[in-house]
Amino acid sequence: MNYPLIIAGPCSVESEEQILVTARALAKIPAVNMLRGGIWKPRTRPDAFEGRGEAGLVWLQRAGQETGLPIATEVATPEHVELAMKYGVDALWIGARTVVNPFSVQQLADVLRGSKVTVLVKNPVSPDLNLWIGALERFQKAGLSDLIAVHRGFSYYKESPYRNFPMWEIPIALSQRLNVPVITDISHICGNRELLQPTAQKALDLASDGLMIECHCCPEAALTDAQQQITPAALESLLDSLAFRSKNTGNVERDLASLRSEIDDIDSELLQLLARRMEVSAQIGEYKKHNNVTVVQMDRWKRILADHIATGGELGLDQEVVRAVFEAIHQASIRRQSEVMEKRKDQ
Ligand code: PEP
Ligand code: MN
Repeated sequence: MNYPLIIAGPCSVESEEQILVTARALAKIPAVNMLRGGIWKPRTRPDAFEGRGEAGLVWLQRAGQETGLPIATEVATPEHVELAMKYGVDALWIGARTVVNPFSVQQLADVLRGSKVTVLVKNPVSPDLNLWIGALERFQKAGLSDLIAVHRGFSYYKESPYRNFPMWEIPIALSQRLNVPVITDISHICGNRELLQPTAQKALDLASDGLMIECHCCPEAALTDAQQQITPAALESLLDSLAFRSKNTGNVERDLASLRSEIDDIDSELLQLLARRMEVSAQIGEYKKHNNVTVVQMDRWKRILADHIATGGELGLDQEVVRAVFEAIHQASIRRQSEVMEKRKDQ
């Protein structure tokens, strides 16, 4: 597989003409190295368009053969796998709704046992890193060696501009635990065209191994996910606008070495400052005990936190970062003061 892996194509294969026209245009974009098309669509509500099934596979195979692009589709059942293999599908992806169910994943791993096909495993809809890892492990144990994780965002209960909240820390944690490439399905993260560019750039900045992007010859008329699909021409400009960063080169490594050593020095200073702060905190504990004052004074703490957030803002620091850091420090400080008080009580 060539990386960065750029998989493009419609959410759903709708007609022979739609997939052929889209595929022909995509094949002219050098960076695109795989054609996607949904054949069986997992829909939230019944009576919506559920994909063309086997007829769609005939068209998808034709589009792949004509353009030379390898083809990918979603499978959710052993019957889907059997049909996809019959029509020479090169890569199968397991959708977010299937990955949540270990029984379904195991069934798919069992029918694919020993196969050479590429399997892409989307993250489950819930932000559950172990469930995602577990699904990949089921395929690994079934002897599949060409595995790719696909980050497509997570269902989230808070207001958000995204269709599926990215929670970038989860794919990063996956990369630390498993040695599989991770690509980013920006279309299902964003849910709309406007967010695609910055989200794609962010994915690449965070060392994503590729992108999955829904492309349709006529996005407004798409039968599924119309708001997030783009034309092949729009994909071309999107890809042109992106900075594909190198993960590792000699020069970059050398330049990074001095910056990394600066970071190490700053971390060591931070640790010494923290230790000093805890020391002072213990002394305050002694004083409070002696003078019968409570450990926590909420009003003072709220004032201090607001001041730190304001000062942090002037220094260009994100307010959530300042809040998280000082809340952790404050908790540790309360624990230290309580220990001091406890100790004095026994004496
Ligand atoms: C899709 O890729 O068309 C799809 C349904 O994706 P997901 O499983 O990520 O929702
Ligand atoms: Mn879709």
